[in-house]
Amino acid sequence: MLYMIMLCSIAANSAVLDWKQRWPNGASLTVWLQQPTPLQQSIVTQAFRQWEAHVNLTFNITVEKPKKSHIRVAFHSYDGSILGKQNHLTSSEPTMLLASLSEQTIELSRKKRIALHEVGHILGFEHEFRHPDWPYGYRWQEAEIERCVEKLKNEPSYCENLSAMIRKEGMRQLPFDRQSIMNYPFSLNQLDNTLSDIPISLKLSPADKLAAAVAYPRSLNSPEHKGYHVRFRSFCATKVHVRWSASGSLFNPTLVILSPGETSDWLTLEKPYIKFKGTTHDGENLWSPNMPQGYAIIADTGWPTSGLELPLYCQ
Ligand SMILES: [Zn+2]
Repeated sequence: MLYMIMLCSIAANSAVLDWKQRWPNGASLTVWLQQPTPLQQSIVTQAFRQWEAHVNLTFNITVEKPKKSHIRVAFHSYDGSILGKQNHLTSSEPTMLLASLSEQTIELSRKKRIALHEVGHILGFEHEFRHPDWPYGYRWQEAEIERCVEKLKNEPSYCENLSAMIRKEGMRQLPFDRQSIMNYPFSLNQLDNTLSDIPISLKLSPADKLAAAVAYPRSLNSPEHKGYHVRFRSFCATKVHVRWSASGSLFNPTLVILSPGETSDWLTLEKPYIKFKGTTHDGENLWSPNMPQGYAIIADTGWPTSGLELPLYCQ
């Protein structure tokens, strides 16, 4: 029996990513789809390709049984994945289950969402509702635990751990993201401090893409002088304002304005720490439109020596 493996003692990282569960950066991973229909194959392949565009990983997808596989996808039982890397490369046991993709009654858009969400878990992403800054109270948890007990046929305490808040260490942290693919849709009657439902997300959010790029950074050619190098790159169709600070103090953040498609100069930091936020020219936060204060923090001992590029998406 496969359970979604989620550790309740991990520190919150980019979005909510279990940093220790990441695959080695730059890895080429074999994904074995076990007896998919053509539609299942197409949905899962698209989900992997969408994430692949934002990470320094390559997914080799096959339907034939390979000698070794890193990720194995089957289409029965329930929807769930092992969180992040795993080492049983010669096993045939699935590491990702997508029962919903075998259901006739589930809409295509929802099936695509489920596949994208589960690939997020495979990369090491936790549920966004475990974010330490989750702002909407705890009423939703009861329903979530009930659903989990029903699904996994396990003890309530096990399910409570799966939905518990993750402790905050402020190392690589993005603001809470309502739009994350790693969220669940919740209705208003399960939430406090908000006037609207959390709708179902059908695509990767701007913060999901940023978090993926920080977790699995690509190699770049930064200037050779000493220090920690970082630059911003805009993928937005309109101008983006980036405010950043290397000290943690936001008394006087530096402003960089990027035109559509523009990449900033390399910035050199004295230590591996940057706090920043991106806004549209209307002042809307790129990552969490309802939380204008939301700064991202990246502070890390494993800062890539070739420099870190921070992609900014508006949708
Ligand atoms: Zn999930």
